[in-house]
This record gives sequence, structure tokens and C-alpha cells, in this order.
Amino acid sequence: MSHKKTSLANALSQLGRQESGSGRSVNLPLMQGSTLLFDSLADFEAARDSRYRPDVLYYGRYGNPASFQLENMLAELEGAEHCISVSSGLTAVTMALLAATQAGSHVLVADNVYAPTRLFCDTVLARFGVEVTYFDPMLGARLAGMLQSDTAAVMFEAPGTATFEVPDIPAIAKVARDHGAISILDGTWATPVFCRPIKLGVDIVAHSGSKYIGGHSDTMIGFIVCNAAHYLSMRKMVLAFGDRAGAHDIFLSLRGLRTLEIRMKHVEAAALKIATWLSEQPQVKKVLHPAFPDCPGHEFWSRDFRGSSGIFSVLFDCADKNKLHRFIDGLKMFGLGVSWGGFESLALPFDPAAMRTATAWGETGQLVRISIGFEDTDDLIADLAQALKCFN
Ligand SMILES: *Cc1c(COP(=O)(O)O)cnc(C)c1O
Repeated sequence: MSHKKTSLANALSQLGRQESGSGRSVNLPLMQGSTLLFDSLADFEAARDSRYRPDVLYYGRYGNPASFQLENMLAELEGAEHCISVSSGLTAVTMALLAATQAGSHVLVADNVYAPTRLFCDTVLARFGVEVTYFDPMLGARLAGMLQSDTAAVMFEAPGTATFEVPDIPAIAKVARDHGAISILDGTWATPVFCRPIKLGVDIVAHSGSKYIGGHSDTMIGFIVCNAAHYLSMRKMVLAFGDRAGAHDIFLSLRGLRTLEIRMKHVEAAALKIATWLSEQPQVKKVLHPAFPDCPGHEFWSRDFRGSSGIFSVLFDCADKNKLHRFIDGLKMFGLGVSWGGFESLALPFDPAAMRTATAWGETGQLVRISIGFEDTDDLIADLAQALKCFN
């Protein structure tokens, strides 16, 4: 049976599988392994000399048939030529930044990026003589005014995953490209189901597969997605550091991808219902969600995304820290912990003022990020309703 890749839904179930062989499994097996054996020295030398290619079997760290299938599948979903799997989402970000820069480079980083990305820039990049300037993610084409002759990379997120501003992805990608700088976008929030940044002109997309792609809070993996122009430098950097994705995480990512679209559609609808309900409560000052018209960059979300995922933030009209503790501790169905994208709902307070330097966080009150899972949506609302009473 040949595969007709007519839609995302078909691609998610048909890609990343063994094509032929009677009695083959529906799934690829878990592929452990370090040493790979060759029939002749000529075969070995051929593999060694082309070991950076995305399909060459040489040694476990360079990939195996399961990692290649997963990488090809993600590249296809993203509309990109290549994908490189790495050990975590943060590794995808840091390897991309390292591959794109050298001592003396300048890097522009959006002010609302994932906090560990910022920490990496301020510590490791700074230590290697890379100058980092933070920028307002809503600058769009006006970012051109901040590029320097030595600007090598522009790092941003769409949206930021604490405050949910949506940048103008094609405008920022174009500013970078016109200048010869590499644009790197952390696309974890949307996944390729809701946004394909390579198609919008971005050079490198970094994903944390630990979130929706794995989807069950049991996987840690990252992906670097790019076209041919950047593939070799990215892959060589990952290999220079000795990084690779683990066999089990590759297996779980392939399994997670099968249900990615239906999970994303569920959390989209559930999160919108809960966010709308929250926005109507007197204790809530504002809901920060890209699908809400008052979200900064909502028009870019409408233009460039096919949907919204299951995390958003709520701003409570209250400065009392004790009440925030009572609210979080009073939630019975929402777990308290970092990360998101699993089957379980989570609630986590954030202080955006402590996380940015180039832009002011103009809001007062306290921010809680909500990640919606697969529990009964009405029960989640009832749980929020009882916990909200602490703000009265
Ligand atoms: C979680 C996260 C990361 C890091 O991913 P890990 O797999 O936890 O290393 C990077 N970017 C964003 C936006 C994230 O939410």
C-alpha cells in the first residue's frame, strides 16, 4: 500500500513507519545501540566519510533508523528539509545558538523568551564573548534598527509562554535574513500542527518535544528543524557536544506524534472554554491568550497560526501573595510543577517583571499560567471556581 500524504492527519499516522515486510509491526521498535557493524572496510569507510548525512548509519550517537524516521517525519510536518533530534528542548535552543554564533558575535534575543534560554545567553554565550541584546518581541520590522554589523542571530518565541505576546514572525525573519543573520524561533507552544515557521521564512525552529509532541509528561527530547543551508552546521555542533536523543524518548515521540493533532484540538477547545470562563470572573483582571483579540499580536496569530494550544495565563486583580498561595494550594485538579503539554492540567505562578529587561511589564496583579489537560473541562472550571473564592 502506498502512502498518500493528503493531510496532516494522514501524515501523523502514516509517516515514520516501516514501509514493507509482511508481519511487520505497526510501530517501529525501540532501537537501542552503540556499535554498528559493517561487512567490509570499504563499507565502513564510506559510512565514516558521510557520517553527518541524515540517513547514514555509522555509530549510535549519529542516529539509527528510528531517529532518522522520527526526524524525517518532523521535517515533513514542518515543511522543512531537515530535523535533528537532541536530548531536550533546551539543548535544541542552545545548540542552535552556539552553531549560529562565534566569539565576538552579537545576538538579538526577544525579551519574553523561556527563562533558561535567557540564562544560557547571559552566562554561556556571554562567557564566550557573544554580546546579547534583548528586544521587544512586538517590534516586528522595526527590529531592523537594532541590528549591528556583527549581529549573527535573532532568537525569539511565538508566542512567549508566560505572557503570550505573538510576534510578527515573517517580519522578524525577513529583517534577520536581509542582514545575513540566522533567525531561530522556539516553536514549542504551537507545534507543527498549528504553525510552520520555516514556511514563514524562519531559518531554525527549536522544539521541546517534552511538551505536546511527547504529550504524556514521560519524555524529554528536543528538535532542531531547518533547511539544507543550516543543516550541517547544526548537526556538527550537536555531534561536537556528543548530544543525542535517547532511544526510549525517540520511541515515545513517534508514538506521541500519532495523536498530536487530536490532542491539540482537544486542548485548544478546552483551553478556550476555560479561558473564556475565567475572563468573565470578577477576580480576573485579564486573560493572556493569543486567540483573544486583546492579546498583543492577536492579528499575527490569526494570520500565521491554524489554532491555539492549551496554555495561557490569567492575571488576578490582587497583589496579596498569601491569597496567591491559597489559590494555588486550593486547586484540587491542577498540578503544581513546571513544564506542560501532558495529559494533566497544571497551574504555575509567574512574575514577568523579574524575567525581562528590555520591556516593562506594565501590569499589576499576579499572573498564573494554566496548562489544560484531558480532565473533564467542566470539572476543571468548577475547581477554579472554588479556588477563586480566596480572592474575594
Ligand atoms: C520547556 C521549554 C523548553 C525546554 O524544553 P526541555 O525539553 O524541558 O528542555 C524550551 N522552550 C520552551 C518554550 C519550553 O516551554
